[in-house]
Amino acid sequence: MSCIFCRIAAGEIPSQKVLENEQVVAIRDRAPQAPVHVLVMPKKHMASLAELEDPAIAAALLKGVKDVAAKEGLKEFRTIANTGAGAGQTVFHLHLHVLGGRDLGSLG
Ligand code: AMP
Repeated sequence: MSCIFCRIAAGEIPSQKVLENEQVVAIRDRAPQAPVHVLVMPKKHMASLAELEDPAIAAALLKGVKDVAAKEGLKEFRTIANTGAGAGQTVFHLHLHVLGGRDLGSLG
């Protein structure tokens, strides 16, 4: 298995897990851009949002975002999915960034 997030989801590589259920894992980003920076990802491999077909996984990802925010005490937060290298994606396993804990301003 060469995908780093598949290996993290499988527990082969250590990570700081924030939540985990049958379909989704959430881990702390190793280079946080905000006091809270968590990545919510499906356990099943897919390269990006462009490959997401299963509505159950889509729902589990969004519920994971909401649950991470609640668990981290965030009332305001930003959710981002970079899709493709040109959009800033560097790890090609779908993940949603959850950022909060500071003033994030408006999108530039
Ligand atoms: P993206 O640029 O949207 O693909 O986001 C990838 C994110 O994964 C970056 O914010 C990285 O800091 C983060 N990242 C990469 N490898 C790891 C890792 N082993 N553990 C935690 N976060 C990671």
